[in-house]
Amino acid sequence: MAGRAGVTRTRFAPSPTGPLHLGHAFAALIAAQLADPGEFLLRIEDIDRARSRAAYEAAILDDLRWLGLTWPEPVMRQSERLPAYRAALDRLGAKGLIYPCKCRRADIRAALSAPQEGAPVIGPDGPVYPGTCRHRGMDQAAPEDALRLNAARALDLLGLDGLAFRDENIAPGTPHRMTRAQFLAQVGDIVLARRGMGTSYHLSVVVDDAAQGITLVTRGADLLDSTFIHILLQKLLDLPLPRYHHHRLIRDEQGKRLAKRDDARAISLYRAEGAGPRDIRRMVGL
Ligand code: GLU
Repeated sequence: MAGRAGVTRTRFAPSPTGPLHLGHAFAALIAAQLADPGEFLLRIEDIDRARSRAAYEAAILDDLRWLGLTWPEPVMRQSERLPAYRAALDRLGAKGLIYPCKCRRADIRAALSAPQEGAPVIGPDGPVYPGTCRHRGMDQAAPEDALRLNAARALDLLGLDGLAFRDENIAPGTPHRMTRAQFLAQVGDIVLARRGMGTSYHLSVVVDDAAQGITLVTRGADLLDSTFIHILLQKLLDLPLPRYHHHRLIRDEQGKRLAKRDDARAISLYRAEGAGPRDIRRMVGL
């Protein structure tokens, strides 16, 4: 589904793991506002089968319609896209850029707490992986293994000594940059396929934004650093590079970012109390 040249196509990509709250409503409204007419798309990010619920998905769609948003059907659902993710992994595998990883969270924590390691660095994909399984080849992959990107090899293959992108909202005049050394130290060998999932947030978002012809990715500022990962994957997979707009986060009175568990901010509760779509817009400062 390629976008027409010069058209701004955006998407809102909720995970159906909880109710739609004020933060999501803001993200959806921004995406719809920045899209050209008819170019706002929806995508259900339901790769985490253990946490996704059909009832949440139905409620999210209902709240979005109530907010006045419309989008083309059918809606893309990531749980139906595993062959596309497999194809992307195969391409990276053919270039020798991924390896199977047996490490559990506790193994990684233990390796990182070794005295010579210093304080573990937490990057956009969690603790930076110490490389325990990096020597393993794909021929040694077991079905229960995760698959990781060999980040150093990936950057070398592309001949890159760093990554950069411009954001249209956060410091729009200055490119956001990460050198090769910073990427390896602060991001590292990210997981591209989680154990038992066949993909990961980073891989599926990149594959799907390209498949949907998204030209402007809008999402919360908390994902700004993830964009370096996405740009690297787009280059490795020869995908078009979209524009980016990372927006402010909606916070509670204590300044804490709203999360799925903040059911008290659920749009459905405001609806039940008689609020209208206009009230929601006002509450998020639109
Ligand atoms: N499913 C992700 C979220 O709910 C979407 C992030 C993105 O837009 O890339 O945070």
